[in-house]
Amino acid sequence: MALIVQKFGGSSVADAEKIRRVAGIIADTYQAGNDVVVVLSAQGDTTDDLLEKAAEINPKPSKRELDMLLSTGEQISISLCAMALEKMGMPVISLTGWQIGMQTNSNYGNARIKEVSCERIRRELDQRRIVLVAGFQGINKYDDITTLGRGGSDTTAVAIAAAMHADLCQIYTDVEGVYTCDPRKVPTAIKLEEITFDEMLELASLGAQVLHNRSVELAKKYGVNLEVLSSYVRKPGTKVKEVTKMEETKISGIAKDSNIARIALIGLKDEPGIAFKVFRVLANKNINIDIILQSIGRDDTEDISFTVAKGDMDAAVEALNANKGALGFKSLEVSDKVCKVSIVGAGMISSPGIAVLMFEALYDAKINIHMISTSEIKVSVLIDAEKADLAMQSIHKKFFGV
Ligand code: ADP
Ligand code: ASP
Ligand code: MG
Repeated sequence: MALIVQKFGGSSVADAEKIRRVAGIIADTYQAGNDVVVVLSAQGDTTDDLLEKAAEINPKPSKRELDMLLSTGEQISISLCAMALEKMGMPVISLTGWQIGMQTNSNYGNARIKEVSCERIRRELDQRRIVLVAGFQGINKYDDITTLGRGGSDTTAVAIAAAMHADLCQIYTDVEGVYTCDPRKVPTAIKLEEITFDEMLELASLGAQVLHNRSVELAKKYGVNLEVLSSYVRKPGTKVKEVTKMEETKISGIAKDSNIARIALIGLKDEPGIAFKVFRVLANKNINIDIILQSIGRDDTEDISFTVAKGDMDAAVEALNANKGALGFKSLEVSDKVCKVSIVGAGMISSPGIAVLMFEALYDAKINIHMISTSEIKVSVLIDAEKADLAMQSIHKKFFGV
């Protein structure tokens, strides 16, 4: 007998028929003699719909009330799925984040898990019940509801698996595993049998939404046995692990991040302290910066461009304009019609030609690069958003031949 944590994403529980299918997978796992804890996401587009509802009432609601609202989506899923299992004669109980002791910090909307007590889950498992847990939500030290950030149900599942020393954590989704690229954008993408935690973490952080990046971080830290698989076809998915036996390929995958905006400050003074002053203004507003590009100074002036998350764009522009006099730039240009495309691979450090291949693929597709950033394990480029899918297809062909 094993302890198995299973997580089903929004599309897997989108309607009654899908919930019944998911209930079937859960029941089979239970009837094979396993202890089963299941984490569910909100049905289909529920979370987006809730965000829209909020915006109709108040475009700038407090983060606390937004979390109160968003957490309801997951509660609908667990209760409905519990009803489906009850109907099948299965012993089952659904529990919210606070009922399982999912303690987080108070960063509403993007809270971090501090501890999961799991006492209640254990008691229920001892009664041989299937436990259904609402993903994406927790509770802070004030007993207020928090959420873990978009896609956070994966992290709920991995955190429970880690806290309970589960034998396996299965992330069921609407594709058959982790692919070399988003299979919906690049139909020739290849399913990976295995991928390392480090590569998966990088892909997830660079926009491959198949796993929440913090779930991968946690799985690596606590050595969780993690698998991504389909809730529609019953076959092995992708194992995410510390080391893989896969033959070393040039890159393991390609990711895109559309949640990005570029801001350019034109005509700054070319003198010491300018970068410090610009980025201090943004840091004071808690705005994260990603890629930075500074031009060579000419005629005593220089330009600095950088990227921020789309959601931070307006606040960043407002803060910079408010300090225009002190920063001394001539003009500010902003665009959210950009996209970051990245290649990831652990073998990159020892293969100097990798970035060149990526640039060649973009040249083949006549795509202009606005910015470039590299690390030991990835190369990212900023390009026009409308060219992102074409870029991924061309890069995929260059590296994988299809
Ligand atoms: P869930 O609702 O199950 O959490 P998500 O929509 O969050 O599902 O994640 C699954 C989606 O991630 C897939 O439908 C796919 O379009 C996308 N995706 C992006 N990159 C990849 C990748 N490298 N491998 C697999 N899926 C990917
Ligand atoms: N329902 C949440 C979201 O849409 C959490 C999740 O799906 O993991 O982001
Ligand atoms: Mg997801």
